[in-house]
Amino acid sequence: MTARILVVDDVPANVKLLEARLVAEYFDVLTAGDGHAALATCEKTPVDLVLLDIMMPGMDGFEVCERLKANSRTAHIPVVMITALDQPSDRVRGLKAGADDFLTKPVNDLQLMSRVKSLVRLKNVSDELRLRAQTAQTIGLQELARVDRPDEPGSVLLVDGRASSQERLTRALKPIADVAVISDPQAALFEAAESSFDLIIVNANFDDYDPLRLCSQLRSLERTRFIPILLVTEQGNDERIVRALELGVTDYIMRPVDPNELVARSLTQIRRKHCNDRLRASVQQTIELAVTDDLTGLHNRRYLENHLKLLIDRATTRGRPLSICITDIDRFKRVNDTHGHDAGDDVLREFANRVRATVRGADLACRFGGEEFVVVMPDTTPEMAAIVAERLRLAVESRGFDIPQAATVLNVTASLGIATLRPHGDTVEALLKRADMALYQAKNGGRNRVVAAAA
Ligand code: GH3
Ligand code: MG
Ligand code: MG
Repeated sequence: MTARILVVDDVPANVKLLEARLVAEYFDVLTAGDGHAALATCEKTPVDLVLLDIMMPGMDGFEVCERLKANSRTAHIPVVMITALDQPSDRVRGLKAGADDFLTKPVNDLQLMSRVKSLVRLKNVSDELRLRAQTAQTIGLQELARVDRPDEPGSVLLVDGRASSQERLTRALKPIADVAVISDPQAALFEAAESSFDLIIVNANFDDYDPLRLCSQLRSLERTRFIPILLVTEQGNDERIVRALELGVTDYIMRPVDPNELVARSLTQIRRKHCNDRLRASVQQTIELAVTDDLTGLHNRRYLENHLKLLIDRATTRGRPLSICITDIDRFKRVNDTHGHDAGDDVLREFANRVRATVRGADLACRFGGEEFVVVMPDTTPEMAAIVAERLRLAVESRGFDIPQAATVLNVTASLGIATLRPHGDTVEALLKRADMALYQAKNGGRNRVVAAAA
């Protein structure tokens, strides 16, 4: 996971410390020594997360947060406020100012990393949602273009062995969620698989049951795999927490549970779940709204050209790589000529399935026309793109294509051209052109191969 994080603190030693820890985890770190500098940075560069000190001369952290959240260009950036342990009222004020989460001084490494990762994941899906909404707007799909909807209440399953904490946690969550409570962890697994929750909170307070077992079972069931899990746990048991995070627990909160912290952390997870659901639903809706190809179910050329423009803009401003791959089925005309047009359609459908199965969820796969397909791969270097393209080539070549229409199995191959975004002034047309020329070379070189365009 990579992200650009802005550290804001008036004490240079604090900035240095946080910066060093984040850089060690390969985050891209910017720093600011006061509120004005922080606001200016967020205005002029894309920032994925702000770590914000509260006590600063001039403009304090609350005001910085308020201003960030009041500005439509920066409102979507998550803010983590760094509070003093002995100032619980700071958290209430922080939430009012729009903060997304808190860290307590002195900042513990594990907490820092889980807060940062949790919010960066949310930022990634919500960015993608915003981007897709923009594309929907360009294409004229107003219904899909609505992004800034108010938070809908989440549905939470609380798994907790004790009546007293059940009552306390449910009360804290009331303003943001409908909570179902269950005491028996095994029953909880069934409940989670049966209903559709946005978040499962597991309070690790059972007398004779290891809560990590439930977490691991939740992660292995198809129906519950993607539901975020928040673990409520004891202080000073970092090893257990690391183990839980490795098992796929999404985030954790320490006892005694501060209601504000619980709300902030639950809200992050619920929002991410909703974003993900909406992304999935938006894919569903786009199918209905004809930016998809009827035959294969992939996005069509019109969608590609619009969305690729936004992806290029984003990659360019962030200085991230982006690669594309154009692939064209070899000697496809022969399939039609020998087995008929319907058999040709079967090949195209199966080809699309293999493309879908080969690429990541974040990649955009499209039918570009006829027997030509394009895959856009954000955050992908030329080397990685070459590996993906080769994998796709093999996925096509290695297994015959079942053709029910002609009651036969056909061997199919494809040629592939890849190209990578240039850091400055590249365009959709130029990038597609370079990939297309590489494809042409692959055809000329004997087909069934991958050729990369010169950088
Ligand atoms: P090459 O290896 O050079 O790519 O040869 P090719 O035969 O694949 O290329 P060519 O461009 O000459 O032929 C592509 C064929 O794809 C011609 C066209 O009839 C067929 N085609 C395009 N769209 C569809 C479709 O939706 N269904 C079917 N069955 N065939 C299609
Ligand atoms: Mg062809
Ligand atoms: Mg062709």
